[in-house]
Amino acid sequence: MGRIVYCDYSATTYVKKEVLDEMLPYFTMNFGNASAIYSLGRTSKTAIENARKKVAESLKCNTNEVYFTSSGSESDNMALLGIARANKNKGKHIITSKIEHLAILNTCKELEKEGFEVTYLDVDKNGIIDINQLLNVIRSDTILISVMMANNEVGVIEPIYDIGNIAKQHGIVFHTDAVQAIGHMEIDVNKLNVDALSLSAHKFFGPKGIGGVYIRKNINFDPVILGGHQEHCKRAGTENVAGIVGLGKAIEIANNNIYEHNKKVSYLRDILKNNITQNISDVVINADIEKKLPGNINLSIKGVDAKTLLLMLDMEGICASSGSACNSQVENPSHVLSAMGISTEMALSTIRITLGEANNLQDIDYISNVLINAVNRIRR
Ligand SMILES: *Cc1c(COP(=O)(O)O)cnc(C)c1O
Repeated sequence: MGRIVYCDYSATTYVKKEVLDEMLPYFTMNFGNASAIYSLGRTSKTAIENARKKVAESLKCNTNEVYFTSSGSESDNMALLGIARANKNKGKHIITSKIEHLAILNTCKELEKEGFEVTYLDVDKNGIIDINQLLNVIRSDTILISVMMANNEVGVIEPIYDIGNIAKQHGIVFHTDAVQAIGHMEIDVNKLNVDALSLSAHKFFGPKGIGGVYIRKNINFDPVILGGHQEHCKRAGTENVAGIVGLGKAIEIANNNIYEHNKKVSYLRDILKNNITQNISDVVINADIEKKLPGNINLSIKGVDAKTLLLMLDMEGICASSGSACNSQVENPSHVLSAMGISTEMALSTIRITLGEANNLQDIDYISNVLINAVNRIRR
C-alpha cells in the first residue's frame, strides 16, 4: 500500500498504544466476570470502577452518574428513550435540533410512534440553533431537550451553556450528544447545567463498540437494555471490561491534552483552509471556522461531484468523507447541510476533512496538492 493520509478523525480514530496496552490483560489474564464473587471477577470490577472514575473526572460528575454502553448510538438511545418513557406522566413534548446525529433523530422518530411530540429546531447558515426559537417552542408539557454539543459533519459548536440555563429555569431535562466534543472541549456538566450526556470511545482514540452516558442522579430513566443487574440495574449485559478500560484511559488522555491538541490541529487547519481558498475557485467553507471544532473543514466545491472527488482522493491514499460516514452510501444531500440552507447541488459537492493529532505539515501539503489537482481534473 502506498502513502495513507488519514483526515477523517470525526468518523473514527485509531486506538492509541497506551490505551491498547491497558486493555490487553483484560482479554486474556483478567477475563473474570465482574459480577463474580472470586478475586478474578473482582479484578474486572475494580478495573470498571477505575474507568468510571476517569469518566466522572473528565465530565466533573459523580461516579454513580456514569453508565457504560456499547456505543455513542446506544448512549443516545438510552438517554432519550429512557428519560422520555420514565417522565411521560409529566408531559410528552421533546425538543431537539434538525442537525442531530441519526442516533438522536431516529430515536425521536421512535418516540413519536409512542405518542411523544417532537419539535425540531432550525439552525442558521452556520448550523447554530436560535435561542429565541427554543424559548418560543417550550411548552408546559416539555420534558426533554436534546441538542448536540458539537456537530459531526460541519463541526459547529452549539450554545450549550445557554440551552442548559434555559432548561434549568423551566425544569426540563437537558441531554447533549457530546460524542464529537470530548477531547476538544472542556466539559463540566454542572456549570453547563447538562443532565445527560453521550460519549463514544472511538472518537477519542479508544476502541470501537464502547460508549458511555452520564445521567444526573435525581433524573428518572427506564432501562432500555433489559436483563441482569449490571450498571446499577440501568443497563444489562456482561460488561465489556477491556473496552471500558480502554474508554477510561482514552478519556483521561484526551482530557489532559485539549489545549495542545486544539492548538496544533487548528494551526494545520488554517494552512489547509488557506491553500484551498487561494487555489480553488467557487469553493465555500461551510460553518464559521471560529465557531467550530478545530480540525473540521467542510467545503462545497461548485460543479464537483463529491463522490467522484472522494474516490480520486482515495486513489492517492487520502481518507476524507462526505457529510457523515453513516450517509456515505446514500445519494441524498446531508440533512445537516440542508438545514443550514445549502442547496442540494452544493450539498452533493461537499466533502468533510477532519484533521487530528497524527497529521503534520507534510500531510497538509499533500492533501492540498492532491485536492487542487483532482478538482482541476474534474472541472476540465
Ligand atoms: C459517531 C457519533 C455518534 C455515534 O457513535 P457510535 O459509537 O459510532 O455509535 C453519535 N453522535 C455523534 C455526534 C457522532 O459523531
